[in-house]
Amino acid sequence: MAKTSLKTGRSLPGCYARGLRACGNKLTREHYVSRSVLAQLGNYGILGFPWQKSADLGEAGPGALASKILCDRHNSLLSEVDQALGEVIASLLLFRDPLTVPNDKRIVTVNGHQFERGLVKTLAGTYAAGLARRAEQLPPRNREPPRDWLHILFEGTTLSQPCGFYVYAGLGLEVEKMFGMVPLFDHLPIPRGADFRIAGYHFRLELRNPDRANLTSAAYRPSTIRFIRETTSCELRFEWPDDSTQHQSMTAAWQGQTTGASRHLLASLEVVRRQLEKTPSKR
Ligand SMILES: [Zn+2]
Repeated sequence: MAKTSLKTGRSLPGCYARGLRACGNKLTREHYVSRSVLAQLGNYGILGFPWQKSADLGEAGPGALASKILCDRHNSLLSEVDQALGEVIASLLLFRDPLTVPNDKRIVTVNGHQFERGLVKTLAGTYAAGLARRAEQLPPRNREPPRDWLHILFEGTTLSQPCGFYVYAGLGLEVEKMFGMVPLFDHLPIPRGADFRIAGYHFRLELRNPDRANLTSAAYRPSTIRFIRETTSCELRFEWPDDSTQHQSMTAAWQGQTTGASRHLLASLEVVRRQLEKTPSKR
């Protein structure tokens, strides 16, 4: 968990968390799509940015998508966040075909709040760099994300239900090496949240006023995604410490592999709807 940041009293111009008055000494060149993401996805695809046409899938090497937007201290406070994001991506790719996964690697556990912070970090970084915007906006520079985003990233605040991340169910998903983000706007210029494509899976981050009508097929902060082929299964588990609500789980059924390519297909990704154990006694 992120610790409450000690106030250094310093606000470093150019650091997007400068409003917290806890900066270090110098700006660092920061990947707003985490290095752990880039390392695993290699030549990743990225979509959803204003310079791209809607259907475009751009490509960029790990040297791109970096900008001096955080100081050394704030950057180092996000290392656990990067790690959680990296573990989820590694699992989604590794579990494409459960039969190929060694026994001792079939269960991966990640802190759900840290993974969620990874999504917030990606949105905050692209926002600060002036990329999470609508095409008609003027290119802004050196923007400060809303203070509540900074509290989530650097001061241990967690989002409360129904805000947080969702995973969409679906049929015929193609699991592949790609990462994409599309900011969601109710009002300019601050995004309400973002849609993410991570290794082919569809995640949504909602930071305020979720659009519930578009979330009926999605699981809110799932506890587990089980990947199944024949009788073999792998599990990506999200831990939700300090959260006593019941979390849904999901199952992903393997379908096949496209010939001569590293792309794998899922027959389905479904939300397991748990029956509530206590039924209301109102009659
Ligand atoms: Zn700073």
